[in-house]
Amino acid sequence: MTLTYSEIMVRYGELSTKGKNRMRFINKLKHNIQDVLSIYPDVKVTADRDRGHVFLNGTDYAPVAESLKQIFGIQAFNPVYRLEKDVTVLKKAVQDIMTDIYQEGMTFKVSSKRADHSFELDSRELNQTLGGAVFEVLPNIQAQMKKPDINLKVEIRDEAAYISYEEIKGAGGLPVGTSGKGMLMLSGGIDSPVAGFLALKRGVDIEAVHFASPPYTSPGALKKAHDLTRKLTKFGGNIQFIEVPFTEIQEEIKEKAPEAYLMTLTRRFMMRITDRIREVRNGLVIINGESLGQVASQTLESMQAINAVTTTPVIRPVVTMDKLEIIDIAQEIDTFEISIQPFEDCCTIFAPDRPKTNPKIKNAEQYERRMDVEGLVERAVAGIMVTEITPVEEKQDQVDDLIDDLL
Ligand code: ATP
Ligand code: MG
Repeated sequence: MTLTYSEIMVRYGELSTKGKNRMRFINKLKHNIQDVLSIYPDVKVTADRDRGHVFLNGTDYAPVAESLKQIFGIQAFNPVYRLEKDVTVLKKAVQDIMTDIYQEGMTFKVSSKRADHSFELDSRELNQTLGGAVFEVLPNIQAQMKKPDINLKVEIRDEAAYISYEEIKGAGGLPVGTSGKGMLMLSGGIDSPVAGFLALKRGVDIEAVHFASPPYTSPGALKKAHDLTRKLTKFGGNIQFIEVPFTEIQEEIKEKAPEAYLMTLTRRFMMRITDRIREVRNGLVIINGESLGQVASQTLESMQAINAVTTTPVIRPVVTMDKLEIIDIAQEIDTFEISIQPFEDCCTIFAPDRPKTNPKIKNAEQYERRMDVEGLVERAVAGIMVTEITPVEEKQDQVDDLIDDLL
């Protein structure tokens, strides 16, 4: 008999401390798991107060486990065998499992629970019978009640019997969406996807805002931003991607402002527009990938000049990290290889050789008086295009093709 896992039991993380919000948290997590596992069409997900259940329905366990390991809000999970409620079947199952996983010197115990009280053996008898079955095939194994190497958990429920022994650590964090919504300013670079990942970890539901300046920026740059967003869906499900038309603004700045202030003004416009989109879409904060001192433009003075256009909180998850620390995370979350693809985004193309490292708010404001700031912002916001990015690339490609055909 070869045993295959039928179900995975999911243990919730920090959310268990959240009192009356508990059901809201659990429902969010269930929805996120469903989104992430939508790449496996036969998998079904349910959730009750104490645990989540992922029913494999014949789907391979290993890849599903890999997906589950990434989802924020999961403390740990256990793969489970579902078996017939028959003592002979259960004995055979524990023997098969133990001969498969036993290594010299390991200790074990059987912990049985009988929810179905009509079952012929009670939990103590089950422990003895199944423990005895293990000794039949592994006569040298030691039983140990405290911290055994293998803890065979057996549960007799109304509908079936369940056995599990493995516990896999989850990603921790909070389920995405339980902390409210934030707008992630997503370029094609290394830092902003990492910033997005860190915000997701603390339960922020992100929407990706990407500024594109065709024809100066290529479809490749846009695809890169899409692909980066897709990488972020594996931590908590689908993400709305908002493309902002930025060409008019960049041309206007280039024409009306001195070279040294191009960067500052560009960023001030991005901030204003992101904030406007946030307001319409009920976001609470803005998230970006600014990192202090990383490039000449990322000084505290510069941050102040850019931030002056809004009072909305701006979260900068990577602000104090070294570049190498950020790259480590980018590699871990598999965004690094995409980020280093050579498609220039709007900022690189319009970037001055020597941006001002200590821009003055007053000067920025003076240059902006030469432009119709409100009109430019309004037109950009009116021209946004929103797409939902899902974990499944194929599906997304089909959607993209469809859109292309329509245009
Ligand atoms: P990244 O690696 O995220 O591109 P960076 O080190 O290149 O960051 P900057 O180019 O100074 O830094 O950009 C700072 C932040 O501004 C980015 O992390 C991002 O949040 C935002 N940003 C820059 N360009 C864009 C863009 N085209 N669309 C959306 N946000 C952007
Ligand atoms: Mg960049």
